Amino acid sequence: MADETDNADATQHRPAETAPVDGAELADRLVEASVLTEDERADDLVLADRFQYNWRRRIEHLRDREPTDFLGLLLDTDPETLTVTEEEGLTVSQQGVTVGEWPSEAALVADVAAFVTLGEVFPGWDDLRGSTHDELVARLRVFLESCPACDGSLAAEGGETAESVPTVACEDCGAVVF
Ligand SMILES: [Zn+2]
Repeated sequence: MADETDNADATQHRPAETAPVDGAELADRLVEASVLTEDERADDLVLADRFQYNWRRRIEHLRDREPTDFLGLLLDTDPETLTVTEEEGLTVSQQGVTVGEWPSEAALVADVAAFVTLGEVFPGWDDLRGSTHDELVARLRVFLESCPACDGSLAAEGGETAESVPTVACEDCGAVVF
């Protein structure tokens, strides 16, 4: 049947640049953009100094503002249409549908700051899919060295038993970062 043939063709002609990007490639791209760098002693990736400095400065600039001010940017939508509920973390909804969740406002501030800072250095940032933006931003949060809300030390907690998921939280203000 002619129609079925047409449909099969259509699925093969998806443009490559809109396909989801896998994790290893994301890491490579972050290294190419000088966001992450190889730490030879630790044999692992770490934040590049310059990116870390710029990200931190932006976190300090954003953390005293209302989250709705910058949620519109992160979610690429009109902030006026968003509702923020704080209850064991931060849930953002739009017309009753959850469009974003963060373990704390501190985590959200870190993500927005990472989003803006990445946008300045990452080649082709504006052409990437929204889901790729989200993955890149989420990937960076594990590199935080101090609390986005108060600069306190971060410590892992929980995870000792099979049921409890380990989290990383601020020792001073208790904000859960991831
Ligand atoms: Zn804190």
